[in-house]
Amino acid sequence: MSKLSIRDLQPAGKRVLVRVDFNVPLDDSLQITDDTRIRAALPSIEHLAKAGAKVILMSHLGRPKGAPNPKYSLKPAADRLAELTDAPVRFAEDCVGEKAEAAVAALKDGEILLLENVRFYPGEEKNDPEFSKQLAALGDLYVNDAFGTAHRAHASTAGVTEHLSPCAMGFLVEKELEYLVDKLEEPARPFVVIMGGAKVSDKIEVLNRLMGKADAFIIGGAMANTFRLAQGHQIGKSLAEPDKTDLALQILDKAEKNGIEFLLPADTRHTAEFRDDAPTEVTAPWGEGGAIPDDREGIDIGDQAIAEFSKKIGEAGTIVWNGPMGVFEKRGFDLGTKAVGKAIAENAKAVKIVGGGDSVTAANQFGFGEAMDHMSTGGGASLELLEGKELPGIAVLDEK
Ligand code: AMP
Repeated sequence: MSKLSIRDLQPAGKRVLVRVDFNVPLDDSLQITDDTRIRAALPSIEHLAKAGAKVILMSHLGRPKGAPNPKYSLKPAADRLAELTDAPVRFAEDCVGEKAEAAVAALKDGEILLLENVRFYPGEEKNDPEFSKQLAALGDLYVNDAFGTAHRAHASTAGVTEHLSPCAMGFLVEKELEYLVDKLEEPARPFVVIMGGAKVSDKIEVLNRLMGKADAFIIGGAMANTFRLAQGHQIGKSLAEPDKTDLALQILDKAEKNGIEFLLPADTRHTAEFRDDAPTEVTAPWGEGGAIPDDREGIDIGDQAIAEFSKKIGEAGTIVWNGPMGVFEKRGFDLGTKAVGKAIAENAKAVKIVGGGDSVTAANQFGFGEAMDHMSTGGGASLELLEGKELPGIAVLDEK
């Protein structure tokens, strides 16, 4: 990537405005239940503080719809950040105007200030020029390390860059680009793409884009039901997209024409009751009369599918995993997702990349997170990068 990096800046004594993603989950008493996003931004924040910058952080939290709301205050995030770093952390009760300006003026070199939620103003999501100008007035340089919102052109991710120079990417964004773009340009082969989750329609663009690069696709989750339905199989009351069966057939055809292996689950685990520990059964192989009865639904890949997928994953040189193989949130419906996570983790030689969202949750839940080379911090943003799109929050940063 040719974008300017935080490493290239001379931030000592400067006010550096940093867009971070502190959109952390909070419980009813406003306690942070998962601080992964705050920890993920620490390398950039500490790098700047150690270099003697005045570090001014901005973020959104939740959906306050353009008005102040104590439920969505970033104060708990400031408190957690103070626990995680040795540098002094201050909090400003507003993100623009007098309070914010006074807090910035009082900031010393090497100190950190977190501004209140930028989405307390409607100008944030509208990328309003006046609001962008007010935000930009608080800084000299700009760093974007909020990968999870880089696919949105908002005031704090796009508008501010018109008034600040230079504008660079933080370490987190740099790593996302390294794995989701650079490493996939000349991937170590075979390049195996594993896709699952609920809908073919959500991931069709990624499938199309990677069709030109991947050696094999592995398909699981409810997505696979749509393919089996398209082939004329009986899928009972499984979740599927009947209006996407033509699309599924086109994808199968394209894969065949391009000589790409396209692995659908050989068999499917199904149940009559959608609950933890419900009894399940596995279909006969789909090619040998397999079917799901009318009153049952497919909730995971079957045992033969697990064996075939694991073998293919074991041979891979590069792996991209996006989407669970089944309803991994329910006990007993998680075998396929767990097995696929394990097979990826055990492939020592492969570059192992997990797309954002549910696959990251699953990898962590089953204890395979540490084994992965990269777990994306952005669901929508990582899909858009894999689709080959340019993210607005990255496009606006300066070139090297
Ligand atoms: P996505 O957000 O598209 O990655 O979809 C993730 C969701 O798909 C998870 O909540 C899974 O429970 C769900 N899912 C995966 N496989 C199935 C299936 N066979 N039937 C119903 N839901 C599924």
